[in-house]
Amino acid sequence: MGEFDLIKAYFTRPAHGGGVVLGVGDDCALLQPEPGMQLAVTTDTLVSGIHFLPDDAPRDLGHKALAVNLSDLAAMGATPRWAFLNLTLPAVDEAWLAAFAEGLFALAERHSVRLAGGDTTRGPLSFGLTVMGEVPPGQALLRSGARAGDLVCVSGVPGEAGAGLAHRLGRHLLPEGLAGRALQRLHRPEPRIELGLALRGLASGCIDISDGLAQDLGHVLTSSGVGAALDLACLPSSPVLDALPRDMAWRHQLTAGDDYELLFTVPAARAGLLAGLPTPVSVMGVVEAEPGLRLTAPDGQAFTLERKGHDHFI
Ligand code: ADP
Ligand code: MG
Repeated sequence: MGEFDLIKAYFTRPAHGGGVVLGVGDDCALLQPEPGMQLAVTTDTLVSGIHFLPDDAPRDLGHKALAVNLSDLAAMGATPRWAFLNLTLPAVDEAWLAAFAEGLFALAERHSVRLAGGDTTRGPLSFGLTVMGEVPPGQALLRSGARAGDLVCVSGVPGEAGAGLAHRLGRHLLPEGLAGRALQRLHRPEPRIELGLALRGLASGCIDISDGLAQDLGHVLTSSGVGAALDLACLPSSPVLDALPRDMAWRHQLTAGDDYELLFTVPAARAGLLAGLPTPVSVMGVVEAEPGLRLTAPDGQAFTLERKGHDHFI
């Protein structure tokens, strides 16, 4: 099977409507944004051996490749519209491709995302997606809007994916019955699109957690010129995390990657609106004028992290 047959067989689906004037098959796609909307555009690459293991299930990889990109749209409060797939394959493996495409399109359909183009090359396995969404002018959720006194909130349960990775790598095996949940969180993250949309006009600052809660919160704090105090007792927990030694659970919650939850700040006066959000959220602490991140353990002692999250070059 050649490059063009491959594209036709696995990555060409009817893309009528959904703002695709011309999809896969020409030199460029032609897209029609809704009148007056701003485009939110982001790209993320997943490389074999770095972001995933070569024998991970292809259906999960197709899902995750799109999910991590949609997560960035969620973090901006954007409505997903279009995706472009840059695929690098060592060889054509049709069963692998069919499963990868299935995982990708299943998530795309759930969020009405149209695959409008891409590129296919031979080389070490990797896939980069570019996704585009729309947001009304002035309503995008930025990292720069957190203010002293705001509450620091997070969706879902950060740290479960990290526990799943430790299990997957054999570094810390989870009890039977809990491993499945943690691996699900690692391999099939759910982009918090509906939450991002609901946070428009409510959150003062927002980011998605891809490289560790503490590090990603640090980006919000630096962009906003503020600091924060977090109470470790208020980090959301779960049976998976409760099964780990306390210190290890904290480290997964604060520094593990792959969570794809939204971390955001909300003016304290609007805390009453948090219960009505489409995804459960937890309040972990408060924004302070003093720069830096201060962590307090349940015994009242200061807790320090030697590493705040994932960095490809450190
Ligand atoms: P060009 O050489 O003009 O860049 P290509 O031969 O790379 O065009 O691609 C042909 C068409 O197939 C284009 O519309 C491109 O967007 C699409 N395409 C290529 N690879 C993929 C892919 N992996 N997924 C979706 N569309 C793809
Ligand atoms: Mg061309």
